[in-house]
Amino acid sequence: MSGLYDDIQFLPGVGPKRADLLKTELHIFTIYDLINFIPFRYIDRSKFYTITELAPAQAAVQIRGRFLSKQSSGIGAKAHLKALFTDGTGRIELTWFKGIKWVDSSIKLGVEYVVFGKVADFHGILSMTHPEIEEFSKFNSRPQQDFIGVYPATEKTRKANLNGKIMRTIMESAFAKLGQNAIIETLPFHILNEFQLPNLETTLRSLHMPADLNQVSKAQFRIKFEELFWVQLSLAIRKQNNNRTVKGFQFFRNNDNILPTFYKQKLPFPLTNAQIRVMSDIRRDVESGKHMNRLIQGDVGSGKTLVAVLAMLMAIDNGYQACLMAPTEILAQQHAKSLQEFLDGLPVNVALLTGSTTKKNRAEIADGLQNGTINIIVGTHALLEDTVQFQNIGLCVIDEQHRFGVAQRAKLWTKNSTQPHVLVMTATPIPRTLAMTLYGDLDVSIIDELPPGRKPIRTAKLRNSQRQKMYELMREQIAQGRQVYIVYPLIQESERLDFKNLEEGYATITHAFPEPRYKTVIVHGKMKPAEKNLAMQKFASGEAQIMVATTVIEVGVNVPNATVMVIESAERFGLSQLHQLRGRVGRGADLSFCILMAGDKLSKDGDARLSAMVETTDGFQLAEMDMKLRGPGDIEGTQQSGLPISFKLANLARDGQILTLARNAAFYIAEKDPTLSLSENAILKKGLQERSKQNVSWREIS
Ligand code: ADP
Ligand code: MG
Repeated sequence: MSGLYDDIQFLPGVGPKRADLLKTELHIFTIYDLINFIPFRYIDRSKFYTITELAPAQAAVQIRGRFLSKQSSGIGAKAHLKALFTDGTGRIELTWFKGIKWVDSSIKLGVEYVVFGKVADFHGILSMTHPEIEEFSKFNSRPQQDFIGVYPATEKTRKANLNGKIMRTIMESAFAKLGQNAIIETLPFHILNEFQLPNLETTLRSLHMPADLNQVSKAQFRIKFEELFWVQLSLAIRKQNNNRTVKGFQFFRNNDNILPTFYKQKLPFPLTNAQIRVMSDIRRDVESGKHMNRLIQGDVGSGKTLVAVLAMLMAIDNGYQACLMAPTEILAQQHAKSLQEFLDGLPVNVALLTGSTTKKNRAEIADGLQNGTINIIVGTHALLEDTVQFQNIGLCVIDEQHRFGVAQRAKLWTKNSTQPHVLVMTATPIPRTLAMTLYGDLDVSIIDELPPGRKPIRTAKLRNSQRQKMYELMREQIAQGRQVYIVYPLIQESERLDFKNLEEGYATITHAFPEPRYKTVIVHGKMKPAEKNLAMQKFASGEAQIMVATTVIEVGVNVPNATVMVIESAERFGLSQLHQLRGRVGRGADLSFCILMAGDKLSKDGDARLSAMVETTDGFQLAEMDMKLRGPGDIEGTQQSGLPISFKLANLARDGQILTLARNAAFYIAEKDPTLSLSENAILKKGLQERSKQNVSWREIS
C-alpha cells in the first residue's frame, strides 16, 4: 500500500521523465496532487458516428471504416499526406502535415480502423486534420474508455503527448496503489447527506475514470459545491463573528433633528422607491446597536449621493461626525459641492480635505475635526492619514469601493474607540454571484431604479471609416450648446503608445474642430493635479466644448451639459467600463449619445461587447454578460480583491445555482454554530484553518 503523499515518480506508468514533466509543468508532486488534478471536460468516445451524420464545428468525433487511398505529396514545409476514408455512408478526407512517414506506414488499405478527430468542411468536402487512428481489432481488444478526461496542459506537456489516455492510465495506477479508503473525506456527513453528494473517493474516481457522464456530472457538482462552500463558510463565520462581537453605535430618532427638517424643507425631489428601500435598510442597521457594514450597489446616476447625505444626517443627529471618502480629488470636490448644496441653510458644517489642501487649511480642519465643529468631512485617501483625528466619528461612507483596498477600509475603523458604521457605495454593477463572493460578508442593498425623467442614452457603434458621421453629430450637438467627451483606452503594457494615441487623437480633433470657434481640452493621468484641475474646470464651466481624455474621467465627473460620449477603440474596454463611461452623459434633461468607435481589428468577442452596449443600458445585465464573455477574473476590480474567485471547476459565470446552495448551507451552519464547536462540524473547523493557512488573503476579508 502506498500513501497519499508519496512521490508520483514511483507510480507504474510514470517514471523519471514523466515525473519531471508533471512536477515542473503541472506542479504535481505527490499522489495527492495527482488525484486532485481534475479534467475540465471529457471526450466522448462512447459513440461511433456515421460520415453522413458529421457536420463541421462538432466536438471531436469517432468514426469507423476503411481507407480507400492514400497519397503523400509536396516537400519540406509543404509536405503532407492525404487519405480518403469511408464507412459506407460517405467519404471523408484525412490529412497529416506532420509525422507523415510514420502515419503512412501505419495505414493499411482495406483494413478496418477507428478514426477520431475534429471535422472541418472545406468547399463542401468533409475533412479531418491530424486525426487519431487505430486499427479496429486493436481498439476492440483493450478495455474500453468511453469518456476520456481533458486535463489542463502546457505547451511542454502537449509536446510530450501527455494526453488524457495516458493520464487515465497513471490515475488508474494511483488509485490501485492507494487501495480503498485512503482518501480522507473533507465534508461532514450531514452535508453529503443533505445535498446527496458522492463521497470524495467516489468523486475523484468518477472524475478520472468515469463509467458514464451521469457519474461525471455528480462528481463535478460535488467539487464545485465544495469549492464555493469553503469560501462562503469563511465569509459566513466572519460575518457571524462581526455581528456577535463588534458592537456598533446605536442611533435614535427625534423629530427636532436635522434629518426630519431636511425631509420637510430641503428634499429637492421625492425619493425613488429604491432609495426609500435602501434608507430603511440603513435605518434598521444603525438602530439595532450592531455594527453596520453595508454595500450599496446602484448604477451610475441612481442617486447614491443623496442616500449618503441622509445617512450622514442620522449620524449628526445622534451627536456623531461623518466622513465621505472618494477615490479621486475631482470626485471629492464634486461631492463636497453637492453636499453643500443639499445642506444649504442647515446647521451642518462640511469640510473638504484632499492632497492639495493647503497646510494652513489642513491645520484648521484638524482642529475642527477634533473639537467637533466640522460635522462632515469629505475627502480622498488623505482622510486615512494618522494626523486626521475625529472628536467622535460615527459613520464612514466610501464611494466607489473598487478603488479602495480592504486594508484602507480597516484603517478608517480605527478612527474611533468603537468602529464607526460603514456604508460602501459602488456604481459598478457586478454580477450577483460575484457580489456574493466579493462582498459576501457585507449586507447588500441595491438601487435598481433611476430617478424619473431620464432619457435613455442612444448608443451606436461605428467603424473608423464612418468617422465623418461622428463629427457630424459632434458639430450638431455643439451648435446646440452641448459638450462632448472623447475617451481613449489605457493600455497598461504600453503607456507610451497610449500617450501617442491620445496626442494623435487630440491633434486630429483640434484639426477638425479648430479654435477659436471650438475649444478642446486634454486630460490624462500623467498631468499634474493642478493642470488636470484647470482643464476639468474649463470643461465643467462650459468654456471648452470638447474634452479629449484617457479613462481618468471614468469615475464620477458630473457635467450635465455634456451629451456626447465618444469612446475610441471601444473594443479594448470591458463592458463594465464602457457602461461607466457611458454614464458620464445623460445626466441632464437632453437626449444624449454614446458613440463606440471600433478599431479595424474587431474580434468576435469585442464585437459582441459593443453590440451588447447598443442593445441595453442596464448595468447589471451588462455586468452579467461581461463576466460570461471574459470570465470573473477580468472584471474590473476583482484582481485587487485578493479573494478566491477562480476555481478548478466552479465558474461564477455559470454556477450561480450551486453557489446559492453552498452559500445557504454555509450561512445556516455559521448561524447555528458560529464557532464550529459542534462535533459534526469539527471537520469544517479543521478545513477552514488549513485553508486560511494556505491563503493569507482569506483572513483579510473585512
Ligand atoms: P450616483 O448614484 O451616480 O452617485 P448621483 O447621486 O450623482 O448618482 O445622482 C445623480 C443625479 O440624480 C443628481 O443630479 C441627483 O441630484 C439626482 N437625483 C438623486 N435622487 C433623485 C431623485 N429621487 N429624484 C430626482 N433626481 C434625483
Ligand atoms: Mg456618485
